[in-house]
Amino acid sequence: MKLLAYFDAFLKNTVNLNQTRLGLLDDRVRVITSTLKGDAQIGELYVDHSPQGSWAHRTIIKPLNNHEFDADILLQLNEVDSWDPKDYLRETRAAFKRSTTYRSKVTKKNRCCRITYAGDCHVDVVPYIVLGDGREVIVNYAENEFEETNPQGFTDWMKEKDDLTNGNLRRVIRLLKYVRDYKQTFTIPSVILTTLLGERVQAWDAVSRYSDTPTALKTILSDLSSWLDLYPLMPPLPDPGCPQTTFNHRWNQPQYENFRKKIKLYSDWAREAYDEDEKAASLAAWQRIFGTSFQKPSVAEKSLAASPQTPSPRGDRAPHEQYIEELGFSWKGGYSLRIDAEVLPHKGFRNGPLRRLRKVRTLQDLEFSITTDVPEPYELYWKVRNRGAEAEDHGQLRGDIFLDEERARKRRESTRWKGHHYVEAYIVKNGKVLATDHHEVEIM
Ligand SMILES: [Mg+2]
Repeated sequence: MKLLAYFDAFLKNTVNLNQTRLGLLDDRVRVITSTLKGDAQIGELYVDHSPQGSWAHRTIIKPLNNHEFDADILLQLNEVDSWDPKDYLRETRAAFKRSTTYRSKVTKKNRCCRITYAGDCHVDVVPYIVLGDGREVIVNYAENEFEETNPQGFTDWMKEKDDLTNGNLRRVIRLLKYVRDYKQTFTIPSVILTTLLGERVQAWDAVSRYSDTPTALKTILSDLSSWLDLYPLMPPLPDPGCPQTTFNHRWNQPQYENFRKKIKLYSDWAREAYDEDEKAASLAAWQRIFGTSFQKPSVAEKSLAASPQTPSPRGDRAPHEQYIEELGFSWKGGYSLRIDAEVLPHKGFRNGPLRRLRKVRTLQDLEFSITTDVPEPYELYWKVRNRGAEAEDHGQLRGDIFLDEERARKRRESTRWKGHHYVEAYIVKNGKVLATDHHEVEIM
């Protein structure tokens, strides 16, 4: 059984970080950044700051056993020609050391300055620089090197995936972070867990596959387990915001192997709990995964949990729009597919990965390519769906699904209409869909 009210209460009472602590975090970050802005040295270089990681993705959970929770902010500083990479971190720490408030709270880590509020949280302040050549970097202090990053691209990607699930991906990530911290039967950095779960979200029948939290949990775990089956050895784990860099150095083969085994087990348990029709037996089965804090909600909480009606993440159907589920294929899944969009060079305009540029102007050219672990031969299908008034007025909402007949595995499009559009790709073999991806395209 789904036990929806139980899931709502469990998330609210046990898993989620409560609003008071998030509010306190906002206040603390405001004071931290105004201190830096007021500093004689760093204040001159300050450009901006923004939440990143689990804080930006809204996947922070309440720490277990009185541990501190972790919140990261990017501190964007201007480039200083005469500085080494490590100077950005050293000077940020020096600014905190000049402050009576932070002198005793600051410690320097390899990529950040950590401000610790004992027993509650720590805030990691990560210096971040956009270099003259356009690279976005953070600092590795020990190596005295810049590391390329695209935190905003990761956050955008995560939001696209979360929107396909109507917010249920975020809840599934929190639940599995809870399982990791509560059971301590596997180890995985949060950023890798977020990536692996987000990559499993498919543009296939999203309305029913991610209709509510327990359904999304069962679906995503099962797809993750199938995908892990393909890889006895840890596969490359590219950063979705910056696919040329991987997260592999933050995990290892024994940890991966163990994670693979545990996900298989918990996926089986989630399916059993979901399929069990008898309430007490279903509750006991969910408790095998979450422990006994997963329990019957109070009467007040129960009445609050309305049965959710999932709106389609796709919105209204365009006149000629097709949906992949309606073409007679069936779903198999278990593989990965990523669409990369490249803005091609054009005089006077910025070019490069769309994940970095975030938006593209009209009258430019985009090239979409794919990365997949499905072995050839397979059929690739594309869909381009325009949205917004301009495309609509010109009868250009599109949305038909077409075969990559030439097996080019690439697709060129020009940017005509302003609006928030998307491209999807689907890999089909023997009538079964093995992998899909979805990439938003904002034209300004
Ligand atoms: Mg941190």
